[in-house]
Amino acid sequence: MDKGEDGRCVSCGRILEKDEIALTKKMVNRGAEAFYCLTCLAARFCVEEDALRRKIREFREMGCVLFRQTDERGVSSGSGAGG
Ligand SMILES: [Zn+2]
Repeated sequence: MDKGEDGRCVSCGRILEKDEIALTKKMVNRGAEAFYCLTCLAARFCVEEDALRRKIREFREMGCVLFRQTDERGVSSGSGAGG
Protein backbone atom coordinates (compact mmCIF):
# COMPACT_ATOMS: atom_id res chain seq x y z
CA MET A 1 0.00 0.00 0.00
CA ASP A 2 1.22 3.45 -0.72
CA LYS A 3 0.86 6.47 1.44
CA GLY A 4 -2.45 8.18 1.65
CA GLU A 5 -2.59 11.28 -0.41
CA ASP A 6 -4.85 13.29 1.83
CA GLY A 7 -7.55 12.05 -0.43
CA ARG A 8 -9.87 10.18 1.84
CA CYS A 9 -13.28 11.02 3.16
CA VAL A 10 -12.89 11.87 6.82
CA SER A 11 -16.31 10.47 7.48
CA CYS A 12 -16.30 7.08 5.80
CA GLY A 13 -12.69 6.73 4.66
CA ARG A 14 -13.47 6.27 1.02
CA ILE A 15 -10.84 7.38 -1.47
CA LEU A 16 -11.87 10.67 -2.94
CA GLU A 17 -11.87 11.91 -6.46
CA LYS A 18 -10.54 15.34 -7.31
CA ASP A 19 -14.03 16.58 -7.89
CA GLU A 20 -15.13 15.56 -4.44
CA ILE A 21 -12.22 17.37 -2.85
CA ALA A 22 -12.93 20.42 -4.95
CA LEU A 23 -16.59 20.34 -4.09
CA THR A 24 -15.82 20.12 -0.39
CA LYS A 25 -13.71 23.24 -0.75
CA LYS A 26 -16.55 24.97 -2.50
CA MET A 27 -19.25 23.95 -0.07
CA VAL A 28 -17.40 23.92 3.21
CA ASN A 29 -14.42 26.18 3.01
CA ARG A 30 -11.75 27.00 0.51
CA GLY A 31 -9.17 26.12 3.10
CA ALA A 32 -10.85 22.96 4.20
CA GLU A 33 -8.53 20.33 5.55
CA ALA A 34 -11.10 17.64 5.91
CA PHE A 35 -12.78 16.34 2.81
CA TYR A 36 -15.90 14.35 2.21
CA CYS A 37 -17.10 12.04 -0.50
CA LEU A 38 -20.28 12.88 -2.36
CA THR A 39 -22.33 10.57 -0.20
CA CYS A 40 -21.20 12.17 3.04
CA LEU A 41 -21.37 15.69 1.62
CA ALA A 42 -24.92 15.03 0.54
CA ALA A 43 -25.83 13.77 3.99
CA ARG A 44 -24.12 16.70 5.64
CA PHE A 45 -25.95 19.27 3.59
CA CYS A 46 -29.19 17.34 3.37
CA VAL A 47 -29.17 17.22 -0.39
CA GLU A 48 -29.09 14.44 -2.94
CA GLU A 49 -25.88 13.16 -4.40
CA ASP A 50 -27.27 13.87 -7.79
CA ALA A 51 -27.60 17.53 -6.94
CA LEU A 52 -23.94 17.60 -5.99
CA ARG A 53 -22.93 15.98 -9.26
CA ARG A 54 -24.81 18.67 -11.10
CA LYS A 55 -23.03 21.30 -9.07
CA ILE A 56 -19.69 19.83 -10.03
CA ARG A 57 -20.67 20.10 -13.67
CA GLU A 58 -21.83 23.66 -13.19
CA PHE A 59 -18.61 24.70 -11.52
CA ARG A 60 -16.60 23.03 -14.24
CA GLU A 61 -18.56 24.77 -16.95
CA MET A 62 -17.98 28.03 -15.17
CA GLY A 63 -14.31 27.33 -15.49
CA CYS A 64 -13.71 27.14 -11.78
CA VAL A 65 -10.05 26.49 -11.24
CA LEU A 66 -10.78 23.89 -8.60
CA PHE A 67 -12.54 21.72 -11.13
CA ARG A 68 -10.09 21.89 -13.95
CA GLN A 69 -9.48 18.60 -15.63
CA THR A 70 -6.21 19.40 -17.27
CA ASP A 71 -3.22 20.89 -15.60
CA GLU A 72 -1.72 23.68 -17.57
CA ARG A 73 0.90 24.36 -15.01
CA GLY A 74 3.90 22.13 -15.17
CA VAL A 75 3.96 19.46 -12.60
CA SER A 76 6.72 19.60 -10.11
CA SER A 77 9.37 17.01 -10.53
CA GLY A 78 8.10 13.75 -9.28
CA SER A 79 9.25 10.23 -9.47
CA GLY A 80 8.13 8.14 -12.32
CA ALA A 81 4.90 6.85 -13.53
CA GLY A 82 3.61 3.74 -11.97
CA GLY A 83 1.64 1.29 -13.89
ZN1 LIG B 1 -17.74 9.57 2.89
